[in-house]
Amino acid sequence: MPYFTTQFGNAASRTHALGRAAGLAVERAREQVAGLIHAQPGEVVFTSGATESNNLALKGALDFYRTKGSHVVTVATEHPAVLDVLRALERDGRARVTVLPVRPDGLLDLDVLRSALTPETVLVSVMAANNEIGVLQPVLEIGRLCHEKGVLFHTDAAQACGKIPLDVDAMAIDLLSVSAHKLYGPKGVGALYVRKRHPRVRLTPQIDGGGHENGLRSGTLPVPLIVGFGEACAIAEKEAPEEANRLLGLRERLRKLIFEAFDHVRLNGSLERRLPGNLNVSFEYVEGESLILGMADVAVSSGSACASAKLEPSHVLHALGLSEPLARSSIRFGLGRFNTEGDIDQAFALLKREVLRLREISPLYSMARPDGIR
Ligand SMILES: *Cc1c(COP(=O)(O)O)cnc(C)c1O
Repeated sequence: MPYFTTQFGNAASRTHALGRAAGLAVERAREQVAGLIHAQPGEVVFTSGATESNNLALKGALDFYRTKGSHVVTVATEHPAVLDVLRALERDGRARVTVLPVRPDGLLDLDVLRSALTPETVLVSVMAANNEIGVLQPVLEIGRLCHEKGVLFHTDAAQACGKIPLDVDAMAIDLLSVSAHKLYGPKGVGALYVRKRHPRVRLTPQIDGGGHENGLRSGTLPVPLIVGFGEACAIAEKEAPEEANRLLGLRERLRKLIFEAFDHVRLNGSLERRLPGNLNVSFEYVEGESLILGMADVAVSSGSACASAKLEPSHVLHALGLSEPLARSSIRFGLGRFNTEGDIDQAFALLKREVLRLREISPLYSMARPDGIR
């Protein structure tokens, strides 16, 4: 709050005490963000969020290293903030993009990745945790493979950061995108981690101007947002291990309730390699959108929040090999810090009411139901 009102200095103004106080607050936040991912503060560039971080990482690396090559490798289940950036680069002739398939459990096969790398490959971009199905990609193995081949490794960690342990050195990550609001910080701020040593990663800035953030991202820093982001990271670092256990307990409670109550349900994505707070389930013979409308008191979604305006079935579920009806019958539960056991039971009660109601009026379900009642 003080940084919105009384501590109103510009962090770039070093000539007066007000500016220096703001600058110190930003540097403290930079340490807090760096601490959460085991980076050095000087490797953290503040941005407006993971969308911008992904743009800077991908466009910045492909621009800077264009004399080395223009090949980039990614996977089909990435967020649009990666896939659409790469499509735009390809359209402009600035990149040649290989989009790898995933296994039916949503995970990338390392042998598939290895055989996609060429001497032309500049960058591999694979997300740490998926935003729809929560699956955790083998980031450590991908990082090692990339370093062995001299290829840069970018990971979109918007979903993973603050939820599961991340260590940019141990995991050989060169570029990592974060968004503050995904870990209880304010909206409109995020960061890109840019490795400084072993190897030193260079990027061409995508926003030019006053030279803020070591010239990588110009524009006056939003001090209150950055301070909130730093504090959110400090809290996540302290509480994440215990919170992950609590969320896993809640998630498993919900999953068991669902799988005991219904036939023709399907878990989307690996159960073992998954964010503790994510559950994505398809209820056959039920339209996901109808289900969601019927349980309006519960903030659930089908597919991703970013694509739900499009009403197209999820590209992530499609990549897992789900048929269109099955993809359309999916819903995603995201459990978080403020959820309780009571919330789970309440959500399940509403879910049960709606699934039973919608299947009751489904002619296809009456033919498929295991008890044979028509
Ligand atoms: C939310 C999200 C983004 C985009 O974050 P913004 O804050 O909207 O920029 C990018 N990637 C993933 C995986 C996300 O979950």
